[in-house]
Amino acid sequence: MFERMLKKVLDANKLLWKYGLVTYTWGNVSEIDRLTDYIAIKPSGVQYDHLSWDDIVVVDMDGNLISGKLGPSIDIQAHVEIYKAFPDVGGVVHTHSPWATAWAQSGRPIPCYGTTQADCFFGEIPCTRKMREDELGKDYEKNIGKIIAETFKDRDPMAMPSVLVNGHGTFSWGVNAKDAVHNAIVLETSAALALRTEMVNHGVMAPLDDIMQTKCYYRKHRKHGHEEQVMSE
Ligand SMILES: [Zn+2]
Repeated sequence: MFERMLKKVLDANKLLWKYGLVTYTWGNVSEIDRLTDYIAIKPSGVQYDHLSWDDIVVVDMDGNLISGKLGPSIDIQAHVEIYKAFPDVGGVVHTHSPWATAWAQSGRPIPCYGTTQADCFFGEIPCTRKMREDELGKDYEKNIGKIIAETFKDRDPMAMPSVLVNGHGTFSWGVNAKDAVHNAIVLETSAALALRTEMVNHGVMAPLDDIMQTKCYYRKHRKHGHEEQVMSE
């Protein structure tokens, strides 16, 4: 009964592999059906080249298995927390993609140095705070999701559809699984460009002018009903 949803989530997971965002099984994509709050996600520990649509697992918001013969990705609780915190999100991606993860491991947000990033992300891509010792227990994955929500308490998650998890990797999201993967790919490209920009410059430099960042973002997103505003406001 979930065949269409499972095939969409399979295709999105295969895109991660195609674009080089995952090594071994270190990454996963999910999509939620907001009518039932059922979430389809990659199973735990299955290699991408062996993955078929009927391996995809369906769980509810409490992580209970609804459909599937395998266990869900161990990151499922982080996905659940993102869906709970951001009601407009329909798909979530987690990766350890190498360029973006280099920034995550440095604990640094990615400055917006050019239009590649500004077209997709409104401002610098944030990095979460370090996790406390008491957050590393059995609710570790759930706490990752909670810290992401905390990082976005004064941000619009639909205007900033990615985050770096301090010392760990990345999460991206979108209106569906495919859109979330698109944002994860732009994140990885932006991370590579930003790091190379600092190499060329021998260090940190000034970000793209606010007016240019605002121009780029709203040129791509005006059709979604956003009003133009000045970024520094
Ligand atoms: Zn991870």
